[in-house]
Amino acid sequence: MRGAHPLTQGQSSTKNRRRPRGQALGATLCLCLMLVGCSGQMPVTRTGFYLDTVVEITVYGEGNGVSSAQDAADGAMELVGRYDRLFSPEGEGSDVAKINSAGGKPVAVEAETADLIRRACRYSELTEGAFDLTVAPETSLWDFRGESHAVPDAEVLSRAAALVDWRAVQVDGQTVTLRGEGRAIDLGGVAKGYIADRVREYLAGEGVSRALINLGGNVYAMGDKYGGDWTIGIRDPAAALAGEEALVAAVKVKDRSVVTSGVYERGFEIEGVLYHHILDPHTGRPVNNGLSSVTIVSADSALSDALSTACFVLGEERGLALAETLEGVEALFIRADGGMTATRGLVFEKAG
Ligand code: ADP
Ligand code: MG
Repeated sequence: MRGAHPLTQGQSSTKNRRRPRGQALGATLCLCLMLVGCSGQMPVTRTGFYLDTVVEITVYGEGNGVSSAQDAADGAMELVGRYDRLFSPEGEGSDVAKINSAGGKPVAVEAETADLIRRACRYSELTEGAFDLTVAPETSLWDFRGESHAVPDAEVLSRAAALVDWRAVQVDGQTVTLRGEGRAIDLGGVAKGYIADRVREYLAGEGVSRALINLGGNVYAMGDKYGGDWTIGIRDPAAALAGEEALVAAVKVKDRSVVTSGVYERGFEIEGVLYHHILDPHTGRPVNNGLSSVTIVSADSALSDALSTACFVLGEERGLALAETLEGVEALFIRADGGMTATRGLVFEKAG
């Protein structure tokens, strides 16, 4: 792949592998291949650890001067930190924690939290609940990050599944109400995309026209690559499961977000069965439909993020059909058998 792009300098942006205690699976979405320094100016990169993953923001400072590019990159990273606190499942400053512990009472939240939850409800409706922001009673039964690798009891899972219904969420202005006992929201399938959108907006407001925003593989390629397309590598899921870095394809984009949901991100294996973090909301169990990853390309990173999860849950046929109906949305489905299918408008190259 890299050899196919002599002008492209490979850079792998690797999400936190989360293997502090020997966890079986790593966490990476995409590898970014990018051209550095055509303009002669050094890009400014900031790296941080937020949202349980490695966040990397690179600002190309042409015209702004290096110091303003640095300020913009610093400001962008601060913004990620603020949203991380608001949207994380726990912590004092978390709006999500407030909503989940409110016992059905209305909760006043920050404007962005209300905005994100409103969008997440829309995506839940659009995908007929394949993406569902109220999936928390199920996700909380699995420990994909820590070391207690166990499959929850079938009865416990079905009780949790009965609590999942995005229609229980109501947003009025900046007030969120989550009706029903035992319900809770989990924004893990959409928050990174939403934050990427906000960072892009912030950078544009700072006069930045070209940047790469990478939230643990949830990538926004802002602007163009000195007149050309950005090349964003898509990880080979089979290699990723084996703990290796390899690309299976690369998409060519301008001003687009590229988001992948894959089985290799978080999970564990018991007796040869892979249990990963993308759950079917109807059952509370990891989706097992022959797919290994789904990549969504669109100008709206929150939409891409939610759709990558939803299309994975829907499976290749229904997921592809949904993506084809959505204007400005392209998708790439990679199967466990190594095959891949893309929407008609996706511009991509296979590796090798
Ligand atoms: P990642 O977080 O690795 O980028 P995804 O975007 O696919 O991957 O999001 C997976 C996360 O979304 C899970 O860790 C969980 O928090 C949440 N989630 C899992 N299944 C669903 C679902 N069906 N609908 C909404 N959220 C989900
Ligand atoms: Mg997602």
